[in-house]
Amino acid sequence: MDDADKLSPVASLVDSHGRSVTYLRLAITDRCNLRCRYCMPEEGVKVLPHAEILSYEELERLAALFVNLGVRKIRITGGEPFARKGCLDFMERLAANNSGLDLRLTSNGVLLFPYLERLSELGIGGINLSLDTLDPRRFLRLTRRDCFDRVLAVFHKALRLEIPLKVNSVVLDETCDDELVQMATLARDYPITLRFIELMPFTGTSYLSRHNAESLEQRLGRLFPGLEEKVSSEIETARCFSVPGYQGTLGIIQGESRRFCNTCNKVRVTSFGMLKNCLYDDGVLDLRYLLRTGATDGEISRQIYAAITAKLVDGYAAEAARTERCTEDSMATIGG
Ligand code: SAM
Repeated sequence: MDDADKLSPVASLVDSHGRSVTYLRLAITDRCNLRCRYCMPEEGVKVLPHAEILSYEELERLAALFVNLGVRKIRITGGEPFARKGCLDFMERLAANNSGLDLRLTSNGVLLFPYLERLSELGIGGINLSLDTLDPRRFLRLTRRDCFDRVLAVFHKALRLEIPLKVNSVVLDETCDDELVQMATLARDYPITLRFIELMPFTGTSYLSRHNAESLEQRLGRLFPGLEEKVSSEIETARCFSVPGYQGTLGIIQGESRRFCNTCNKVRVTSFGMLKNCLYDDGVLDLRYLLRTGATDGEISRQIYAAITAKLVDGYAAEAARTERCTEDSMATIGG
C-alpha cells in the first residue's frame, strides 16, 4: 500500500451509534462441499463463475485496508473456505503480512484434517467447527454427505493441537431435547464452547422455522440444571453459560432474535466483494467494482469508512431497508 494513499489518520471505524467495528468476516468462496438442508437445496445454490469471486490478491488487498482502518480480527468463511484451492497459503500470507491480526476460521471440517498443523503454526486464533449432531446417520440426513467421521477426527486433532475450538450447532424445529443433551457432552467432556444457533431465514430455500414457544435459553435452563449465564467483558456473538461439572461452556447465538445488535462490532465481505454491515442488509458497498476499476487504496478506504459509519441501528432496521426479499438467500452465499 502506498503510504501517501492511506486514509489517515483514521483511529478506528466507529458507526453513528457509537459501535467500534474491529471484526471482519471475509468469505472467500460461495461453494460448499456439504448440502445442509437448512442452508441449500440438494442441487446446491447458484454459484458465481470464478471470475466474479474476488481473487486472493484482491482479498489480501482488502484485508490490509481493513486492518489499516482498525480491524483486529478477521474470520475466513464461505461457503466452505477449504473448498477453495489455496485457502491455507492465503491464510498464511494474511497472518505473515498483518502482524498482530487475530485470524480465525469457520469451517465444516470436512477437508481440514491435513491442514491443522499448519493452521496451528500460523497462529490461528481459533476455529469454529460446524457440527449439528453426534449421530452419523442424522449427519448424513442433514448434510446429505457421509463425512461425520472426518469432522469428528478434526475435532479431536484440533484439541490435541490446542487450537481454541468452538462448535456451532444449528437447532432446527426437529432437533429434540435428547440431541441437545448429546451435543452438550462435547462441552461437558472437553474444554470447548458449544454454541446452539437459532435457525435464521437464510436457508437457500423457502423453508422457514416455526417460531417455538420455548426459547433456546428456556430450553437449556430446563435441560441443564445449574446453568448460569457468564458475564463477559468481551464482545461476543453468543451468550455463554456455565454448567456445573462441565469443562467447557454452552452458548446460544440468537441471530434471528437479533439480540446482540447493540454491541455488534462486525461487518462482512461476501465472496463477490459486497460489504455488508449486517446479515440482514442488501449490501452497502460494491468493493469488487472499486477494486476492478482502478480505485486507489485511499478511495476504497474512504468509501469503506463512509459505508460503515452509516451502519443502521439493528438487524430489524437493516431488514426494513432491503429492496430484495432475503428468505431465499443462503448463508453460503452471504458468507456465514
Ligand atoms: N462452510 C463453513 C461452515 O460450515 O462452518 C462456513 C459457512 S457456513 C454458512 C457458517 C455457519 O452458518 C455454519 O455453522 C452453518 O451451520 C450456519 N448456517 C447455515 N445456514 C444457516 C441458517 N439458515 N441459520 C443459522 N445458521 C446457518
